[in-house]
Amino acid sequence: MITADLDIAVSHLRDLINGARRIVPFTGAGISTECGIPDFRSPGGLWTKNRPIPFDDYMASEEARDEAWRRRWAIDETFAKARPGRGHLALASLYKSGKAPALITQNIDNLHQASGIAAQDVIELHGNTTYALCMNCAQRHELPGIRATFEASGRAPDCSCGGVIKTATVSFGQPMPVAAMQRAQALASDCDLFLSVGSSLAVWPAAGIPLLAKRNGATLVIVNREPTEFDEFADLVVRNDIGDALAAFVTH
Ligand code: NAD
Repeated sequence: MITADLDIAVSHLRDLINGARRIVPFTGAGISTECGIPDFRSPGGLWTKNRPIPFDDYMASEEARDEAWRRRWAIDETFAKARPGRGHLALASLYKSGKAPALITQNIDNLHQASGIAAQDVIELHGNTTYALCMNCAQRHELPGIRATFEASGRAPDCSCGGVIKTATVSFGQPMPVAAMQRAQALASDCDLFLSVGSSLAVWPAAGIPLLAKRNGATLVIVNREPTEFDEFADLVVRNDIGDALAAFVTH
């Protein structure tokens, strides 16, 4: 069923959530737009402004790294100011109620952790842009120190091991995090309700996770204001604003 009627959507969602034993939420950039973070594919989204810098270019070229850091500082204030929205709080409520054991996200904004879901239960398929990692020794680096060096010298520092430092996100062409993918697949294979929220479901391999859940017998719900690649496979498609559709499920 596809609906854009808010009352019908909330009523169906409530029935499905009440009847579910094990719920797995899966989120994309759309859940964070009400928090002031633009998504990729909506009109005016990040995609329309900057061509992504592929991983190999980042590793090979100082100019590409300089450009990547300039872009990161340009969005720094937006990410720093953002607070969890109604969608984040609703999914955190499902988690705290014990029905959702963990949450899978394509987002890199740390807002699910900020909404009260334990960090180890937020499965980040595309990493996290609120800190950085050495691409050689995997040491964690915090952004304020990197920014201070960048502003003083025009260039980000290297790690003490000599390795290149990069935000802890997964760039195009960079291998997916194996453990996170495996955990996401295991969760999708063992749930009776899978909620895809705010994703165009156009980025692979993440987009395969909702389909895996459906193939393993879960009821698939897609909450997204625009059509997605997989609406035809969903049991319920909610074409409403995410905050409006999920506000009724905020309980904590
Ligand atoms: P996407 O931009 O491809 O799709 C987002 C979808 O959300 C769109 O189809 C849009 O119609 C919908 N949407 C936006 N605001 C909405 C709202 N308020 N209510 C209902 N629907 C809404 O995003 P994606 O599928 O997550 O894939 C893009 C990639 O971009 C991901 O890998 C993600 O890591 C990255 N990204 C992350 C962030 C973030 O962390 N917040 C922001 C931009 C991009």
